Amino acid sequence: MYKAFLIKYSEIGIKGKNRYVFEDALCHNISSVLKGCDGSFNVSKERGRIYIEVTSDDYDYDEVIERLTKVFGIAAICPVVLVEDKSWDNLCCEACDFVERQYEDRNFTFKVMAKRADKNYIYTSPEIGMNLGGILLEKYPEMSVDVHDPEVMIYIEIREKAYIYSRVIPGPGGMPVGTSGKAMLLLSGGIDSPVAGYMIAKRGVKIDAVYFHAPPYTSERAKKKVIDLAKKVAVYSGKIRLHVINFTDIQMAIYERCPHDELTIIMRRYMMRIAEKLALESDCLGLITGESIGQVASQTMHSLRSTNEVCEELPVYRPLIAFDKQDIVEISQKIDTFDISIQPYEDCCTIFVAKHPVTKPNVNVIRKSERKLEEVIEGLLETAYATDEVIEIG
Ligand code: ATP
Ligand code: MG
Repeated sequence: MYKAFLIKYSEIGIKGKNRYVFEDALCHNISSVLKGCDGSFNVSKERGRIYIEVTSDDYDYDEVIERLTKVFGIAAICPVVLVEDKSWDNLCCEACDFVERQYEDRNFTFKVMAKRADKNYIYTSPEIGMNLGGILLEKYPEMSVDVHDPEVMIYIEIREKAYIYSRVIPGPGGMPVGTSGKAMLLLSGGIDSPVAGYMIAKRGVKIDAVYFHAPPYTSERAKKKVIDLAKKVAVYSGKIRLHVINFTDIQMAIYERCPHDELTIIMRRYMMRIAEKLALESDCLGLITGESIGQVASQTMHSLRSTNEVCEELPVYRPLIAFDKQDIVEISQKIDTFDISIQPYEDCCTIFVAKHPVTKPNVNVIRKSERKLEEVIEGLLETAYATDEVIEIG
């Protein structure tokens, strides 16, 4: 029945002169996801609205809706009936036809809500609403009007063409990915970091990612798990360039030379340093982690202060910083990463973890411990960068 969709967006509307940048990005992102759907589509914008027209005979309605509900920047998706001949008589016929086909059981209260962008149309918006409401009532007496709290709202828009719709499917909100620059996500196999990446992408940020791999202590299967997580995030964020860095030798050196209760903190500091360098090389404007205050020893305020200080140029975004675990779990279930995250493949952090890690590391002590790596660390970092394997996801 539907050969077109009206896409509503919210926040883009307040971007003033830059508005077209956001609209164009949204059109581009919508076109990209539709390329993966059966059928062919034309995406266009017209004064505060984006329209998708189906240009093929066939397409998969459910698939299109499923894809569109994951495009950030969309506030609502309205499947519309497009009326080329918007003359009053034809519009009334089409509206009756719409109601008849859309609703088998017409025992409901309704209201016709009209909007006229074409100011030359014979009726004003309120007149269209009233007159069409009357016609529908006459034709379908089982329906009744309720202007305050109708069960069904029938929308009519008169523009170049006329549009009729009544279903408003909520979109994911947020901003179109690509309109806020790019950031580097530290992506592990856990529950938190994929959620953190999803949240920042929702604000329009394109995502690159880095995973620190420690073979043979972490298996190929653990790496595959991270790739699977990146694919799930990419459903929302679009393509992700995933860097896989071999971290084994750095980890071993820390293990051999530094106090064991500081292992995790020192390891995390090197992860941040490497991530920042990769980020700067690929024009990222920040780092993203899945850290949350107090979740584990390496995420107390003292620990965060220690890991944060090594990032010299870029801000670190921690969207989950004040989230409870359960709230993070709920988002991971919604974005379908939870079941992958809980697969039991070892993480490089858990293998070298001390029985009693420091929970209140003192930065001066940590800096001093790190000096024990002085002789070897430069070479080890060079080797680690040389292992960088880039995997294009999505
Ligand atoms: P997550 O569930 O995201 O793994 P976590 O609760 O296990 O988080 P940590 O292991 O302390 O917490 O890691 C904190 C953050 O550091 C992670 O959210 C992630 O951003 C980053 N991180 C940890 N391990 C790795 C890794 N092997 N590769 C890349 N980033 C990592
Ligand atoms: Mg982890």
